[in-house]
Amino acid sequence: MATLHKVVEDTEPTLRSHETGTVIQVGGGIARVRGLASVTSEELVQFPDGVLGVAINLEPDEVGIMLLGDSEKLGAGIRVTATGREADTPVGEGLLGRVIDATGKVLDGGKPLEFHERRPIERPAPEIIERSPVTVPMETGIKAIDALIPIGRGQRELILGDRQTGKTSVAIDTIINQRNKGVKCIYCAVGQRATAVAKAVETLRKHDALDHTVVVVAPDDDPPGLRYITPYAATTMAEYFMEKGYDALIVYDDLTRHARAYRELSLLLRRPPGREAYPGDIFYIHSRLLERSTHLRKEFGGGSLTALPVIETQAQDISAYIPTNLISITDGQIYLSPVLFQKGLLPAIHVGKSVSRVGGKTQHPALRSVASDLRLSYSQFEELETFARFSTRLDKETRATIERGRRVREVLKQNERHPLRASEQVAVLKAVNAGLLDDVPLDAIANAEKRIQKHLLETLPELCANMENGETLDDDQWQRVLSELEVALAGIVQASGS
Ligand code: ATP
Ligand code: MG
Repeated sequence: MATLHKVVEDTEPTLRSHETGTVIQVGGGIARVRGLASVTSEELVQFPDGVLGVAINLEPDEVGIMLLGDSEKLGAGIRVTATGREADTPVGEGLLGRVIDATGKVLDGGKPLEFHERRPIERPAPEIIERSPVTVPMETGIKAIDALIPIGRGQRELILGDRQTGKTSVAIDTIINQRNKGVKCIYCAVGQRATAVAKAVETLRKHDALDHTVVVVAPDDDPPGLRYITPYAATTMAEYFMEKGYDALIVYDDLTRHARAYRELSLLLRRPPGREAYPGDIFYIHSRLLERSTHLRKEFGGGSLTALPVIETQAQDISAYIPTNLISITDGQIYLSPVLFQKGLLPAIHVGKSVSRVGGKTQHPALRSVASDLRLSYSQFEELETFARFSTRLDKETRATIERGRRVREVLKQNERHPLRASEQVAVLKAVNAGLLDDVPLDAIANAEKRIQKHLLETLPELCANMENGETLDDDQWQRVLSELEVALAGIVQASGS
């Protein structure tokens, strides 16, 4: 009798009736349905042909559903079934190297996706008690960032700038730089053209960065519902790695388009529009997303999730609605300026308008010691240079400051897809700080840089390894670095002087 009772108990949960409703209207990626009286918010519903939707607007006599698939075959009168499940997404190691959408649909034409588990796309952010300070650098391999705006693992750093200023490039380079570092990356592309995404995937593949990356895509021709849920699903995939104790990195490219997808949905659902026609909860959709990135305490696995949200500004207006929201949510921003881009100063990072509020503490000490004065002296130079244009007679000291500044600017230039190790960055910044590049003509700097980086790695491999492991260098060791830099540069200065 006891066993029979147990069997009945075990089978009970499967005896669930699936409620059905009827579509009354479909359009713009939204379906209005009558009859799903007990459906819950965020519940998955199913249409014929396997098209899924998520209930988001619950009203007394009808339900607003955002569609996650093609709505062509749907129309009034069609039956809808509630599934009793929250919207969820696959997670696991099997996702690495794949290009998928938020529901787990394979988009790279490869074999079926391997996974053992699905998790809800909306999950609560870790509690304060589970979080720990950011202590380890998230190295981008980009000199201007690692030296002047350093990012830490678990930090949220905004990348913003007008269109075509190199935002995606910075993010992709950061992912490429995580090769062989054990960091698991998620590149979440929302609302971009499919060709742009294909280009990004190709770049990752070409630089051996796809194996540690999951690409989650909702291109601009996907229904707004799918574009809206994609960043949440991508974050669930990233959290899987964080909760396993890994360091993970997620790029949202970009959240301007995500906000627009949500605005589209809200207007279709006739929610009252507010500033710039965005609905009242537009701040919340991004804050709850980015709150999920953090560094967990050891007791909770010690993993981390670093977020690099991307935002597109219009006509350099960083005080528009969505940019200011994101600036206030994140721990700093990297601002890319179209003016610098046009001058060919790539990456077009505007140091004065960029900041990292928590990453400074994580910077490698060797890098910090060469970069600490750079930020201030570089800003001073920028100001001086503007003034110097109006006067021909400059005193010697001013002229020297300007010449040094020009060399720093030259040194901060970096081609995309050329990430540098911490020791390589230290080498060239130390050289410019110590005035070793003052006699090198501007057009020979790039060449000199390569030379000193190579020379230092060859002659002082242990010291370079120390720098990369975050050890401090004593005076004696710095002296050795300096004399090797001088040796490396001797040939160049002579060649250009003759
Ligand atoms: P969009 O607004 O279209 O998304 P974006 O701001 O993401 O553009 P990217 O696509 O990253 O900009 O870059 C624009 C162009 O500039 C690309 O052709 C890219 O190759 C080039 N570019 C960006 N950064 C660099 C760099 N450091 N060195 C050389 N080329 C660069
Ligand atoms: Mg881009």
